[in-house]
Amino acid sequence: MNDRKAELETLRADLKARLSRFEAHQHREGGALDKDFEEQATQTQNDEVVDSLETETRTELAQIERALERINNGVGDECETCGEAIDPRRLQVLPYTTLCVDCAED
Ligand SMILES: [Zn+2]
Repeated sequence: MNDRKAELETLRADLKARLSRFEAHQHREGGALDKDFEEQATQTQNDEVVDSLETETRTELAQIERALERINNGVGDECETCGEAIDPRRLQVLPYTTLCVDCAED
């Protein structure tokens, strides 16, 4: 249990570091698009990729915060939906999950 918490805290720190890199990219200095159209297109595409990665990272981070909160409340290994115990092997593979395998499939 404590290992899982430590693992989640490490993951959370990594994701936060990643997010600040995305933010630095999106708010880079001299953000005006290049004159050359092809470069412009590439840059826009790149921005879109970073945007979707950022959204993904935020979702993951929210999931980790939620799992950590449940661990702190002493219910970290219980399914959020049905209240059954989550298989420890599942928690090992997906330390941030808050659902048992049955509920996750729904
Ligand atoms: Zn369940």
